[in-house]
Amino acid sequence: MAEILIIGGGVAGLSAGIYAQLSGHHATVCERQAVAGGNLTGWQRGEYHIDNCIHWLTGTNPKTALYQMWTELGALGNVDVHQPSTLYTYEDEGIRLSLHFELEKMEEELLSISPEDEKEIKSFIKAIKAVQTFKKLSGNDQKRNTFLSGLQAVPRLYRYFKMSTGELAMRFKSPYIQGFITSMLGKDFAALALLIVFATFCGGNGGIPVGSSLAMAKRMTTRFLNLGGTLMLGKEATEISEGETGAQIVEFSDGTMLTADYVVIATEPNVAFEKLLGLAMPAAMEKHYKNPKMPRFSSIQCAFACKTDNLPFRSDFIFKLPKNEQEILKTENLIIREFSHEKRFAPKGETIIQSLTFCDEKTCREFIELRKNTVKYRAKKREFASLIQNAIERKFPQLDGKLRLIDVWTPATYHRYTNAEIGSYMAFLLPSKTIPKKLDNLVKGKPRVILASQWLQAPGGLPIAAQVGKDAILRINKKEKRRKI
Ligand SMILES: Cc1cc2nc3c(=O)[nH]c(=O)nc-3n(C[C@H](O)[C@H](O)[C@H](O)COP(=O)(O)OP(=O)(O)OC[C@H]3O[C@@H](n4cnc5c(N)ncnc54)[C@H](O)[C@@H]3O)c2cc1C
Repeated sequence: MAEILIIGGGVAGLSAGIYAQLSGHHATVCERQAVAGGNLTGWQRGEYHIDNCIHWLTGTNPKTALYQMWTELGALGNVDVHQPSTLYTYEDEGIRLSLHFELEKMEEELLSISPEDEKEIKSFIKAIKAVQTFKKLSGNDQKRNTFLSGLQAVPRLYRYFKMSTGELAMRFKSPYIQGFITSMLGKDFAALALLIVFATFCGGNGGIPVGSSLAMAKRMTTRFLNLGGTLMLGKEATEISEGETGAQIVEFSDGTMLTADYVVIATEPNVAFEKLLGLAMPAAMEKHYKNPKMPRFSSIQCAFACKTDNLPFRSDFIFKLPKNEQEILKTENLIIREFSHEKRFAPKGETIIQSLTFCDEKTCREFIELRKNTVKYRAKKREFASLIQNAIERKFPQLDGKLRLIDVWTPATYHRYTNAEIGSYMAFLLPSKTIPKKLDNLVKGKPRVILASQWLQAPGGLPIAAQVGKDAILRINKKEKRRKI
């Protein structure tokens, strides 16, 4: 049995902790915040609950291998999974298009809006179905999904592999379909990534466990503790060194020290290398950080309380902003989301509407800098929220005067909360024409330090965080010559 110290109690850290316990080791998870879960979280503002994370959780279909992993991690428990009828709806000039759970319905809608795009629409739908033949990706008929069925789908998908979402959009003549295609992930993501999202959602493999993010984090924490793991909260690691006997020594900001046989670092690599290990980042990883085609991003979000009686949309709704608002808000579309499916997130008869606007690295850094001046930072947040509120109310006049601002959070919030350098909460953007290699979780010259972070595999996300946590323990098991978990 090895003593394993895990730095960071996000999904990757909790996953490493759970698989360490399942492998017969003893794990201690050290998390700098007062609660484990990292980005998989939510918080209370008076009577309202604000959810930070799950738009869709890949792996909610019991027929998939990923579901098996979430079950091992205690992430799903016995709670119901909310399956929205649409993942998102896009609207421009009164024309609405939705990513429907029923693929046939989406095909019909696309064809009715733009019959002249029939060939491209049919090819797109076939490509989504081709992605669904890959094992692990969708819940549809997993038994028939074999290595061979995946292989057969490759030629159909090759064309999309070469395209970005922006390039895919331009294959369609209809400006509405173009907008629909780029509204969720933007124009620079790999088109294949979009196909995977569509295939996953329509395959019933991208639902939301009831209670959403914080509830899921709590279930994973409970699972870890029930397996005998130790959780230390408010514990920020500052340095890792090696003792003469090879023991790993971790120092903390409260002046304490802990030793272990292995250390698993489940934070952003910036924290791992620069701050904790005092080492330069490995070249392969640095290449990702410097690759302009794989930028990092974050977002500014606002939450408003709202009555549910005349909600003008359901689930996620994306609308094209008028030109003047695009310039002020530095975004073409506004993404908003309502939570009426979560009865406990607001008092009876009310819900929360959250807005999300993505921002690039430069804007992220500006927010982080601005936060050093509390007065200016607060003023900026108020100004931003007011612009967003106006944009929503102009779009939906029935909401005029009915939205009440509850909270605003920015890349600076994520930077403060998770330590991520620019406040990004996914890893790198997934570009077209390449499948970025999964980075090694070993640290050169440090055989007892293993990395477990979503940053090892673009574009990150919850399943990747859970998998890298598991991979770290598989590495340790190999070193310890233990059987698999
Ligand atoms: C708005 C939003 C929407 C999202 N939507 C989805 C979605 O729909 N589906 C999906 O799959 N993913 C989604 N994600 C992404 C998902 O939340 C992340 O991919 C995942 O939570 C990353 O987990 P992680 O453990 O790798 O990193 P993190 O969550 O960043 O966890 C790292 C942890 O390490 C801790 N830490 C850092 N430094 C130290 C230190 N020195 N000592 C101790 N502890 C430290 C941090 O406090 C943090 O808790 C979303 C994220 C956000 C914010």
